[in-house]
Amino acid sequence: MSKNIKKILVTGATGQIGSELTIELRRKYSKDHVVAAGHRKEPGKKLLETGPYESFDVADRESLHKVIGKHGIDTVYHLAAVLSATGEENPQLAWHVNMDGLYNVLEVARENHLTSVFWPSSIAVFGPEAPRVNTPQNTVLIPTTMYGITKVAGELLCNYYFARFGLDVRSVRYPGIISAETLPGGGTTDYAVEIFYEAIKHKRYTCFVREDTVLPMMYMPDCIKASISLMEADATKIKCRTSYNVGAISFSAGELASEIRRYIPEFQCDYKPDFRQKIADSWPMSIDDSIAREEWDWKPTYDLASMTRDMIEKLRARFAAEGPG
Ligand code: NAD
Repeated sequence: MSKNIKKILVTGATGQIGSELTIELRRKYSKDHVVAAGHRKEPGKKLLETGPYESFDVADRESLHKVIGKHGIDTVYHLAAVLSATGEENPQLAWHVNMDGLYNVLEVARENHLTSVFWPSSIAVFGPEAPRVNTPQNTVLIPTTMYGITKVAGELLCNYYFARFGLDVRSVRYPGIISAETLPGGGTTDYAVEIFYEAIKHKRYTCFVREDTVLPMMYMPDCIKASISLMEADATKIKCRTSYNVGAISFSAGELASEIRRYIPEFQCDYKPDFRQKIADSWPMSIDDSIAREEWDWKPTYDLASMTRDMIEKLRARFAAEGPG
């Protein structure tokens, strides 16, 4: 186990990213040293059986404080959040959970002298005024969603806690994350995961964005790699304390459907854009992540072809093991 890391708390551990990141952290640093924290969503068997589990509301600072003390936590991966599409349906809840939750984590980290905090931002920090192709690290940030607003404010808050209190808080702007383990929880890029489930199960999918919609995406193993390698990088390399752009793959919904057709030739996809199209149209199509590559050697592994092959193999194996139904 790395001597820098004593005990880790993962909030949002029952979510799409948390459910896999927690297991990888337990594998890497010892299972008893990684506490998974959920809230209303039931934890899966794997999460419960591989290490400690707690349940609390991140907007409740006293509960967070107790859990940190109880387990002697010194590092927090704070993933609990309300995502973009759910956030547009309930902006008040998005502000409450995302801002009060992050503020509580940073305050408890400051009070308890924690070693470090990881908090993901998102490509949702960019709005229509930012360049949409090869979007730079430093550009105008005027998002049009409440989710994006909470991510911009969160980035500034993290930067403030580093500058003012010396808290070692690190962050990346995740693009849309694609994974085979846990379904996504209400984001604008959810179609890029749902399409695989529907293609394998029903050979049909109705996509909620247009065929020509291009967004930056990343496969889960790269998401986990980006998060852990940023946290393990030498502090002298981390010059950006708002949040790093990290890129991996960019493709249109139509290109993804075509790639899936290489494995399921009869797959049919049609397109019925809903309110999420407007959100997608305000986000970047591709990301310039040269600063993360230079400063802490970020490099993704998966491209569209290798991600699609792996997703189909994993989901087919899982559905076969689960049986019909
Ligand atoms: P998710 O919706 O799958 O999971 C979020 C988790 O937060 C859920 O398990 C939920 O139970 C928990 N949660 C919600 N409200 C809570 C509260 N009040 N108290 C405690 N827990 C609460 O989300 P995810 O996709 O796993 O996202 C994790 C992080 O990554 C979030 O910060 C999100 O903004 C960011 N992110 C995700 C993506 C993506 O494509 N998945 C892209 C960019 C950024």
